[in-house]
Formats: sequence, C-alpha cells, structure tokens
Amino acid sequence: MVSKLDADLIVVGGGIIGMTTAYEATRRGLATLLIEAREGVGLETSFANGALLTPSSTEPWNAPGVHRLLLASLFDPSSAMKLRLHAIPSLLTWGPQFLYHANRRHHERATRANFLLAQYSVSKTRQVREELGLHYRHASTGTIKLFRDHASLQAGAAAAHKLETLGLRFEMLDPARVVTVEPSLGAVESDLAGGLRFRGDETGDAFAFCQRLQQEFARLGGRIVTQAKVEKIAYQSERHAVVRTTGGDFQTRSVVVAAGGQSNKILKGLGPSLPIRPAKGYTATYSDVPPGGPAIPVIDDTFHCVFVPLGKDLRIAGTAEFTGNDTRIAGDRVANLRRLLKQLFPQLAESLADTEPRAWAGLRPMSADGMPFIGRLGTRNLFVNAGHGHLGWTSAMGSAAIVVDAILEEPSAVDASPFRPER
Ligand SMILES: Cc1cc2nc3c(=O)[nH]c(=O)nc-3n(C[C@H](O)[C@H](O)[C@H](O)COP(=O)(O)OP(=O)(O)OC[C@H]3O[C@@H](n4cnc5c(N)ncnc54)[C@H](O)[C@@H]3O)c2cc1C
Repeated sequence: MVSKLDADLIVVGGGIIGMTTAYEATRRGLATLLIEAREGVGLETSFANGALLTPSSTEPWNAPGVHRLLLASLFDPSSAMKLRLHAIPSLLTWGPQFLYHANRRHHERATRANFLLAQYSVSKTRQVREELGLHYRHASTGTIKLFRDHASLQAGAAAAHKLETLGLRFEMLDPARVVTVEPSLGAVESDLAGGLRFRGDETGDAFAFCQRLQQEFARLGGRIVTQAKVEKIAYQSERHAVVRTTGGDFQTRSVVVAAGGQSNKILKGLGPSLPIRPAKGYTATYSDVPPGGPAIPVIDDTFHCVFVPLGKDLRIAGTAEFTGNDTRIAGDRVANLRRLLKQLFPQLAESLADTEPRAWAGLRPMSADGMPFIGRLGTRNLFVNAGHGHLGWTSAMGSAAIVVDAILEEPSAVDASPFRPER
C-alpha cells in the first residue's frame, strides 16, 4: 500500500532550471516540492552568469575544428576555451563523445534544435514576466556580435541565414553602422570587419529571476526545503519514489532531477550515466558604471566574451575551462576579462582602472552533444532537466514547459525528441 505522499512531484535542485520547472509544474496543478542543497535558490551556476538570453547563439561549443583549438589551448594561457592537463582523466568517456559530435551535420542539427527551444523559451520568459509583473533587471535591447575579420563575419552571417527560416531575425552592420548603433565602440571601429545585430535577444539577472519566481511558486502553494542534499532516490513502484535527503525522507509520485552538473550523482543506479561535464567560466561585474560603456550587450566573437549592461552594472563574461569541479577564482582569468574591457572600451576601462570588479566563477553543465537532457528516464516516473551548458538561462522556461509536458503526458509546443535523455 502507498503511504501518504508529500507531493505529486519533487524537483531536485533549485537553480534556474529547477526553479522554473517547479514553478511551471505548480502553475499547471501539480503539488510540488523543491529540494535544494544550498541555503537558497540560484546560488550555484545560475548566480552571476552572463545574463544573456540569446536564441541567436545556440550553436554547441564543439564546432568542427574544436580538436585543434583544445590542443592548442594546452599551451596558450589566454585561450578562450582551455583544456587543463589534470582534467583529462575526468573526460575519458565524455571527451571522445564531445569530439565525435564535432562534425558539421550534427552541429547544424543541434544548433537548430537549441534555437527552436531558445526561441520558445524566451517567448515564455517574456510571457511570465508580463503576467506576473516580474522585475529582474531585464532589457529587450537585443545584442550586437562583433567580428574582426571578413571570413568570420561571413561565416557568422551564413550561420544566421540558416536559422532565418526558423524565425531568427538579424541585420548585418558595417563598422560605421556598428558605431552608430553602439557609440561606445567608437575607439575600435577601425579594428572591426563588422557586426550582426540580433533584436530578439534579451538580458536579465538569472538569480533575481529565480528569487522572484520562488515567491510566485510559494504563492501558488509550492513548497521548498533548503539545506537538504538529496542522497538517493529509491522507487517503491514505478509511481512511488522515496527521496532520501540529509534533511529527511520525502515521498512522491514523480521526480525531476534538475541538479545541473550534480545530476549524475543523484541518478546513480537509476539509469545510464548522462554525459555531462563542467566547463568553468568567469564573470566580472562592475557596479554603478560611469559613462562610456555599452547600452546594448556586445558579444565579441574573436575572444568569446560578452559585455552586458545589467541595470546600473556592467557584467563581463567569458572563458570555458575544462578543469574539473573547481570553482576557485584564478586571478589571471579575471585579469584577462579586464584586459578585454580595455581593448573594446578603453575610455571606460580608464575610468574603472582603480575599481575591483566582483569576480565569480561557475561550472556550465555541458552535455557531450551540445543539447540538454529533458524528459523521462526509463519507465518509472523519473524525469531529467539538466545539461544546459552555456544556454541554461536562455532555455530555462522552455525546458521547464517541456519536462512538465512529459510528466502530464501532454504534447509540447516544440519538438522535444532531440532532447530525450536516452538519445
Ligand atoms: C560564466 C558563465 C556565463 C554564463 N552565461 C550565460 C548566459 O549569458 N546565458 C545563458 O543562457 N546561460 C549562461 N550560462 C549557463 C547557465 O548559467 C547554466 O546553464 C545554468 O545556470 C544551469 O542551471 P541549472 O539549474 O541546471 O544548474 P545550477 O544553477 O547549478 O543549479 C543546480 C542546483 O542543484 C543543487 N543541487 C546539486 N546537488 C544537489 C543535491 N544532491 N540535492 C539537492 N540539490 C542539489 C545545487 O545546489 C544548485 O542550486 C553561463 C554560465 C557560466 C558559468
């Protein structure tokens, strides 16, 4: 006999993916309990990320040629994507899969699937913002992507053209037009080959969004248990799980594991291991920024970094380091972000020369094929929403809707088959 359940659904992990999932499930009528190991929501990878929602940039990072880039990075301290020697043993099964998928056919397929998810997700983010009147330092100014040579500009434009039929809108800008759109780039006009303007991209603070959504979740009757680490999920039957945590046991009909890079530990023994590994990134945030900075987020294609106005702050984000589960802040990586600020916005960098930015490092949960895992795992009422890599904020609301569709056995608004956990 099934004893009294604590919830219809338990969501494990209160990052942007778990929080949006728990909200969406509650909104659609499921009595939901969110269990989070930390003292609050959004304190891990979703805390101070690049703050961009970019359907325009949904290509996986294992583009054809990534092999050469990673090899060269072993010897180049300033490389945007960096492989650390000591991390190689932890990549023994994941690494070959990551490289296997670095071919044109897969890359285009994954970019398209991610784009449709991201586009759907951003529209859902807008909808929830308007319905609930949420404020999370958001802006709908779009983004500008900069290119320093003509071949890269043409390649960027060709990639954007391929998504045009699916709904991506963009404009090509010559260097003079880049500066007209974003005057703070005046000092580097002569270094540029041009840019692409994506009006559909947005910005916002993912941590603030998590917190606002938590309030709405509670208002709808959702419950949160914090400082409880899930250690095991045991199924009594296909529709009855006991979630064992450091704060006690909880009984439920269904579980969604949305614990980012920690998801595999929780899923151990319940199905195949998901190919997810951490790719470390850094942000540097300046408060109350003086004039001279960008009004529109600027994405630098050459150095793989972004400059994002966030309310009165400016956030610089960049680097992808394969260095295991290490979130320590390395001074040289932060110095590198400051150097990039100086290259692009010399006048602003001068004004900020004596100001220390708030430095932060987080671990992107990267799947080996560049797409997240969303949906049912096996035959039990066990679901996954994890492995969103560099696009977790962009695709959170859409991914939440898709996993709740799977729980309720309802059709999804976008094709969810590319994201099946057991693909
Ligand atoms: C430098 C950087 C810049 C980025 N910029 C962008 C950007 O501009 N746009 C974008 O779309 N994405 C960006 N990302 C990616 C994005 O931040 C991530 O994809 C997203 O935060 C992942 O969310 P998550 O909820 O899966 O993981 P997390 O935010 O890490 O949440 C997982 C949660 O699970 C909890 N947890 C773990 N184990 C357990 C357990 N056993 N029991 C209970 N709880 C547990 C953790 O405490 C955590 O709160 C960036 C990432 C980085 C690092």
